[in-house]
Amino acid sequence: VSGCSVSLVRGSPASLIVSCEGEVYVVDPGHGAKRARQLAKAVSGFEPRRAVFIVTHYHSDHLNALAEGLLERLPGGVEAVVAASAVDAAGVRDPLVRTALTFGYPLRPPSSLLLYEPLPVRVDLEVEAPGSLGPLTLTPLPGHTPGQIGVVAPDGTLYAADALFGDKVLSRYKAPYHLDPCLALETLKKLMEEAGRTYQAIQPSHGPRAEAGGPAEEMIQANIQAVERLLETVKQAAEKPATAEQIAAETLKKLQAPTEPSIAMLITNTVKGALACLHAQGQIQAQPQGPTITWKTTKP
Ligand SMILES: [Zn+2]
Repeated sequence: VSGCSVSLVRGSPASLIVSCEGEVYVVDPGHGAKRARQLAKAVSGFEPRRAVFIVTHYHSDHLNALAEGLLERLPGGVEAVVAASAVDAAGVRDPLVRTALTFGYPLRPPSSLLLYEPLPVRVDLEVEAPGSLGPLTLTPLPGHTPGQIGVVAPDGTLYAADALFGDKVLSRYKAPYHLDPCLALETLKKLMEEAGRTYQAIQPSHGPRAEAGGPAEEMIQANIQAVERLLETVKQAAEKPATAEQIAAETLKKLQAPTEPSIAMLITNTVKGALACLHAQGQIQAQPQGPTITWKTTKP
C-alpha cells in the first residue's frame, strides 16, 4: 500500500507502527509508563483520525502500556480502538483469566510470583485470523497462547509476536514458553514454509528482525530445535511413571533452565502443555496412581 510508513519502536517487546492515510496501527504497545508516553507521542505525531492498537496475545508485557497512560494521553478527537483475537480477548480484558492461563494459577496482584502486574485492558474489536485489518494482514500463530496472531505490514514485515524468540531469549530461558508446545511447533513449521512468500522479513517481539532467505529461516530453525528439545526432554523424564511436577522439575534440571519461581512456574506450565499434547498424540500415557495422575512415555 503506497503512502504507508512502517517503523519499529525498539524494546522487549518491540512495537510495530504502521501509519496510512490518517490511521495509525500500533502492534503490541508493550509495558511501562515510559513506553506509554513514548508511543502516545509517536502516534500523536502522525495526527491520525483513528489509532488502532493490536494486541497479538494476552501477556501483560505486550499490552500493559495501554492501561499505563497510553490511551489517556492520546489527543482528544482521535478515535482509539483496541483489537485482539476473539480467543485471546478474554485474557486481555481479565487479569484472572490471564494469570490462570499463563501460569496455571489464578494469581492476583500484588503477588511476588508475578513478573508484571496484570492490568485489565478493554478490547473494542475482536479480529479474525486469517483476515485483514486496514492495510494489515492478520495471520494465526497459535501455541504460545491459544489465539496469538501475527501481523504482516505493507512492507512485507511479519510481526511474529512470541511465536519465536531471538537467540538471547532462547539461551537465557532454555525452554521457550508456549502454552501448547506441539501447536507452537506446527506454527513454526508453517512460518518456515511461508518465509519469502507471505512475508519478506520476520520481527519477533523479543529479538532482532531477520530477513527471509537466510537469517529468518535460521531463527525459525533455532526455535524449532528448542521446542523439539523440550518435547524430547519431557518424554525422557516420563520414561518411568512420574507426576507432572516431577517431570517439570526433571526437565528444568536437564535443560539448566533458570530457577526463579516465576520462570519455573512458566516452564512448568509449558511442560504441562507438552504432556497434554503428547498425550493427544499417543506418545505419553496418563495413569491414575493413588490420588494423583502419573505420566509415562509410550514405548514404540
Ligand atoms: Zn507472550
